Amino acid sequence: MQTNASRRDLAKAFAFMAAASAAGPALAQSAPAAPANVDAAVKAAHAEFKGLNEGKNADYIPALAQVPSNYFGIGLVTPTNKSSFVGDIEPKFSIQSISKVFTLALVFQESGEALIENSIGVDATGQVFNSITAVEQYKGKEMNPFVNPGAIATTGMVKGGSADEVWRKILGIHSDFAGRQLDVDQVVYKSEADTNQRNRAIGQLMSAYERFPGDPAQAVDLYTRQCAIAVNAKDLAVMAATLANGGKNPVTRKQVIDPRHVPGILAVMATAGLYDDSGKWLFHTGLPAKSGVGGGIIAVSPGKFGIGTFAPPLDAAGNSVRGQRAITSISNALDGNPYAVRPV
Ligand code: GLN
Repeated sequence: MQTNASRRDLAKAFAFMAAASAAGPALAQSAPAAPANVDAAVKAAHAEFKGLNEGKNADYIPALAQVPSNYFGIGLVTPTNKSSFVGDIEPKFSIQSISKVFTLALVFQESGEALIENSIGVDATGQVFNSITAVEQYKGKEMNPFVNPGAIATTGMVKGGSADEVWRKILGIHSDFAGRQLDVDQVVYKSEADTNQRNRAIGQLMSAYERFPGDPAQAVDLYTRQCAIAVNAKDLAVMAATLANGGKNPVTRKQVIDPRHVPGILAVMATAGLYDDSGKWLFHTGLPAKSGVGGGIIAVSPGKFGIGTFAPPLDAAGNSVRGQRAITSISNALDGNPYAVRPV
């Protein structure tokens, strides 16, 4: 739910995009961006937005309020593993909602797309990510996997005989996307587990509407753990680039998921990756993306590049302010918008 004041903040945060679009969107080139251009675009975006101090760290999870707000890291990786990393690319932070993408990938891989489409749906709710009203309105249907009710249900659909087995698979797919063994930030996990009454209520409600099998308390706990997986901007860039490269990690060369599942994942990112601002985001960038309240964003230009950014202050919709601006600027410089093509 947004107040008029937060709407005004949001309008301000997006004013730059209006200016960018007035100049006309960049058109796609036939050749992929040269590495020198990639580096220049990433450095320019970092320099341009590092002094931007709009937005505020999430604080409803107490540990997130403690993260230094000035952190700003950007990584870009291409399918052929050309890369550029600038700024605070090493500090770790919790992946939060970006994890929803990779747990969805796991469920697609294990059970296919129809399970998700028929149970929780793939449409946007148009409501905030932890809306209970949306669950009630649609009885847990039409939720999509990238808002909390759908994401908790998605985690509850991962197959396994025990919580440990399910967790190993969830952590495993995140690690495969990143190309290294990831782990949980225990401080963030505990902070969220102690304060996630709302998500527990959402889990119970989704279970009452029979949107996923098994124990809702277990699904919420595993969901909370997956949100606390620690990554850095470099990891996010590799994870995004794996999606840009048909599910094959460009660094490790491991085929993490079947390429046929990638379009569906990107479609849900395009529809709901930036919560109730997803339409605005897509309108201005054309890029499937996913944000997290830890300050991370991933964005994918299919076949061209994946970007990962980290900057904790969020706008009223819960998306990193500097991250959105940096990705927009880099993508415009590299002709990343998949909808912008030269007429033949
Ligand atoms: N763990 C967070 C929550 O459930 C994730 C939300 C987010 O990143 N938008 O509230």
